[in-house]
Amino acid sequence: MAEVIDGKSVAEDVVQKVKALTAELVGKGAERPGLAVVIVGEDPASQVYVASKSRTAKECGFHSLQHTLPADTSEQALLKIIGELNADQAVNGILVQLPLPGHIDSGKIIQAIAPEKDVDGFHFINVGKLGTGELETAFVPCTPAGSMLLIERVRGKDLSGLNAVVVGRSNIVGKPMANLLLAANCTVTIAHSRTRDLPALARTADILVAAVGRPEMVKGDWVKPGATVIDVGINRIAAPERGEGKTRLVGDVAYAEAAQAAGAITPVPGGVGPMTIAMLMANTVASAYLAAGMKRPSF
Ligand code: NAP
Repeated sequence: MAEVIDGKSVAEDVVQKVKALTAELVGKGAERPGLAVVIVGEDPASQVYVASKSRTAKECGFHSLQHTLPADTSEQALLKIIGELNADQAVNGILVQLPLPGHIDSGKIIQAIAPEKDVDGFHFINVGKLGTGELETAFVPCTPAGSMLLIERVRGKDLSGLNAVVVGRSNIVGKPMANLLLAANCTVTIAHSRTRDLPALARTADILVAAVGRPEMVKGDWVKPGATVIDVGINRIAAPERGEGKTRLVGDVAYAEAAQAAGAITPVPGGVGPMTIAMLMANTVASAYLAAGMKRPSF
């Protein structure tokens, strides 16, 4: 059976390190790192994510600001707030919770965030830095950055010679994940909905990352024996066995089968999920170090 990669515990280690780095920064006379989270509208899932981000920010010792705006906030008004946060020296990280209401152009909002405060790593400058290997100053999107830390826990930092297959090519997960694996010297293939014979391709992977959004799509016989399997998917499915109307979370990987073949595997929940918020804190403290003219800490 595969080693279970405990994302909760790695995420907790990251948060503890962020706390210590914050204390060190303040000890040197700098301001506390500041994280501003902006949410527009009342999407219940977004409210839960935002509350959790603000809570972890406080736990890390950050100055935590939250802008909760009504669903009918205009694009202009939101741009004005982003401009103010860009100019606010107490703010090192700005996160706009997605999705935004349909009348707001999310792309325009994301590109309005100052790249050095773009702790989500979605600004073209940060995307370009990651794509060109400028990892010293890039802000990398939190979910792939967290997935990479989990891979490093199993395989170490240098992944030379390993084949990686990333299933999914989104800008938020698949593409940045592939770039991180490439930077770590993997031979990387990105698969997507038009890929032919995905099971055979997946079986070539020493590192297999699933970021698809399809419950338990990756089967046990897609997994090369001994592979490291990272399941980014979070899917809620019906669970009648738990009672009428009940649901449960599953990943994009058929966990029980895949764990028979894999060398190491992330569970869902408790794998990649907890890493995302932890890496947001890591990016924010890194931004604060850079703003204070200090060396960027690594994780
Ligand atoms: P997305 O934007 O919907 O992208 C899904 C990708 O999967 C697309 O590239 C799509 O291909 C590909 N795909 C769809 N069906 C496929 C199939 N049958 N075979 C092969 N590829 C297929 O999703 P995302 O934002 O990357 O998220 C992926 C999953 O990760 C979701 O379950 C999401 O909930 C989860 N997620 C988790 C976290 C976390 O914190 N753990 C964060 C973000 C996302 P095409 O490009 O060809 O359409």
